[in-house]
Amino acid sequence: MGREPGLYIGGTWRHAANGATRDIINPADGTILTIVDEAQPTDATEAVAAARTAFDSSSWPQTPVNQRAALLDRIAELLVRDREEIARIETLDTGKTLRESYIDVDDVVAVFRYYARLATISSDRLVDTGDPTIVSRVISEPIGVCVLIAPWNYPLLQICWKIAPALAAGCTMVVKPSEVTPLSTVALVRLIDEAGVPAGVLNLIQGSGAAVGAALTDTADVDLISFTGGAATGVAVSRAAAPHITRVALELGGKNPHLVFADADWNSAIDAVITGVFLHSGQVCSAGTRLIVERSIADAFVAELKTRAEAIRFGDGLDPRSQTGPLVSTAHREKVESYVRLAISEGAVLVTGGQRPTDPQFGAGSYFPPTIFDHCDRSMRIVQEETFGPILTVERFTTERQAIDMGNDTSYGLAAGVRTADPARAERVARALRHGTVWINDFGIYTPAAEWGGFGRSGNGRELGPAGLAEYQETKHVWTNTSPQEVGWFAD
Ligand code: NAP
Repeated sequence: MGREPGLYIGGTWRHAANGATRDIINPADGTILTIVDEAQPTDATEAVAAARTAFDSSSWPQTPVNQRAALLDRIAELLVRDREEIARIETLDTGKTLRESYIDVDDVVAVFRYYARLATISSDRLVDTGDPTIVSRVISEPIGVCVLIAPWNYPLLQICWKIAPALAAGCTMVVKPSEVTPLSTVALVRLIDEAGVPAGVLNLIQGSGAAVGAALTDTADVDLISFTGGAATGVAVSRAAAPHITRVALELGGKNPHLVFADADWNSAIDAVITGVFLHSGQVCSAGTRLIVERSIADAFVAELKTRAEAIRFGDGLDPRSQTGPLVSTAHREKVESYVRLAISEGAVLVTGGQRPTDPQFGAGSYFPPTIFDHCDRSMRIVQEETFGPILTVERFTTERQAIDMGNDTSYGLAAGVRTADPARAERVARALRHGTVWINDFGIYTPAAEWGGFGRSGNGRELGPAGLAEYQETKHVWTNTSPQEVGWFAD
């Protein structure tokens, strides 16, 4: 039997125009999982044209909102039906544990359901002009053709945070997963096809960003690019979009501080710091990679973190005993290792980890152990740059002001945590931190109804919540004169 086609353009599944393919690797053991289509620029241009035609010439943008909401609910139902299979695909492709993949599927079910409800709540409003003969309305309309680009760390979750509001708003779209982890997106698009999305409304391109990026972003046919990924690629996307004045929403990286005061509940603080940084082997944009801990408890705190980090069981994500999986690829592990060498050269003190496991059972996979560096300071690159691996740096503070200044001393601003038993201090610190999300005595949690996004170089848009829908809408002012009279300006 032939390979299944992996590009979805204008409602039809097909192969890449020139027949190009790519091997998809299982990071747990280095084997080839499957072979997928590798789209070329011509495929991407066709996908944009299909989305443009569906927006300009089909009835989709005007579809009654309850019909769009029904489509979203149907997608959620199909995700529930195929939960096991999609979670398994996500684990095989990304390396994350099955437990995490189930959480991701459950999250996106909730996101589709949330936007199904929100779509039916009109945000249109009447403006009081003081003139009873005038009806002034501010209405929301779909923004148009959207290009949705997702990273490899949360392939299913990140793309759904875009697709659900884009469909709810009445947009058409071209979806591009990372070339490294496209499989759950292909499975999702098959479900969306099954759910009855009209032809051309949603199109799928698989292929390398370097190859198809320009065709998707440097074009006047696109109205919005919603991008999640690294800062350097975000800059490239913004540059490509600029000549066309295309709107760009960016969800970029993070270097997220976790502030722990001496009065914090000890056990939950230890647990949250460990989970916040080492979940998914640190490949999380909001990972709490910078521990900023009060000096009086720092030595004991780091000693316990060491014990806990060394007890983490890493292994194949499909193995229920694994608590965390491998890094996404051997190339990515090399990048993480280069940061370990950098940290040592900068004078950071290695507490644990830092070297590939020597056990032969991990030989073929791209594993890297939880790693902690103590006695770090804000001048070090290991403290300022996103490593996107299982690396925790430790800095110490004495006063609340110092803790805040350290937490804000980053070009990023995605997420932060503060742990203290003092509610007034928690509130002061949360308000002072310049980050898109601040958790008080918690870490890493999000919910479909609350906005997600970054300050500074972490991005410029918002996903989830009402603002996540507004990203996909244009605002229009409609002014109706119910009793037209001559203005008479040029009468005399
Ligand atoms: P990346 O290298 O920037 O890639 C992101 C996406 O952009 C991929 O689909 C990539 O395709 C594509 N791409 C690459 N070059 C492109 C170009 N010139 N034009 C258009 N698209 C292009 O990021 P990543 O390594 O996949 O993901 C990790 C980054 O994402 C981290 O910095 C992480 O913090 C960030 N992230 C942020 C959030 C958030 O919510 N703020 C969430 C998750 C991840 P290929 O992979 O096929 O090349």
